[in-house]
Amino acid sequence: MNVAMRIDIITVIPQLIEGFLNESIIGRAQKRELAEIHLHNLRDYAVRKDRRIDDYPFGGFAGMVMQCEPIDRCISALTAQRHYDEIIFTTPDGQQFDQPMANELSLCENIIILCGHYKGIDYRIREHLITKEVSIGDYVLTGGELAAAVMTDAIVRVIPGVIGDEQSALSDSFQDNLLAAPVYTRPADYRGWKVPEILLSGHEAKIKEWEIQQSLERTQRLRPDLLEKGKR
Ligand code: SAM
Repeated sequence: MNVAMRIDIITVIPQLIEGFLNESIIGRAQKRELAEIHLHNLRDYAVRKDRRIDDYPFGGFAGMVMQCEPIDRCISALTAQRHYDEIIFTTPDGQQFDQPMANELSLCENIIILCGHYKGIDYRIREHLITKEVSIGDYVLTGGELAAAVMTDAIVRVIPGVIGDEQSALSDSFQDNLLAAPVYTRPADYRGWKVPEILLSGHEAKIKEWEIQQSLERTQRLRPDLLEKGKR
């Protein structure tokens, strides 16, 4: 029996991603019990009566920092119930998220994704509890929620069975370090803009050959760095 992959997301603003997680492919994956996604409001683990989880940074720096204790309490409550393969912190100085990482994480049974806010989290949490630090790009977001949503989407869609036609996820860009070939749908002629003849030929082998050649040509032109990566 297939056990659903479980993703626990810890955030101070769960409502930022609640709707997103219940829609489209991620929503359906959960209904079909292929993935389980749980949102945890960090304020439920606050030690202060006003439910605040941040404080001023030592050293007099600007901004606020998320405190150790609420994060530790939340992570400890989760790890007391099950083993987690990774405890991930979303952070701009982390390892760059990409398709190979999404594929790898989709093989995990349970992962935690911790979203930072303000100036970030007390560094001791990163040193002692976090097993992987991940960035979704070289820019700074207000919080880790969008990063967690991006990662969850990319991970869940490659879980076997989530996308009806599995080939469809495997032929997306970045699988095999290649960009995807262009796609077309009806009508075959729109305002004189024609679909490549070969796609209407019904000749499976030639269509496959065209797809590979298009994929290589687009990668060479738009992302030659991916081809270099593939050689390594
Ligand atoms: N002071 C931090 C720095 O310079 O690295 C940035 C803090 S940012 C305003 C608040 C939170 O948003 C971060 O702790 C992180 O969780 C999240 N975040 C921001 N940019 C991100 C990115 N590119 N990838 C992943 N998470 C990001």
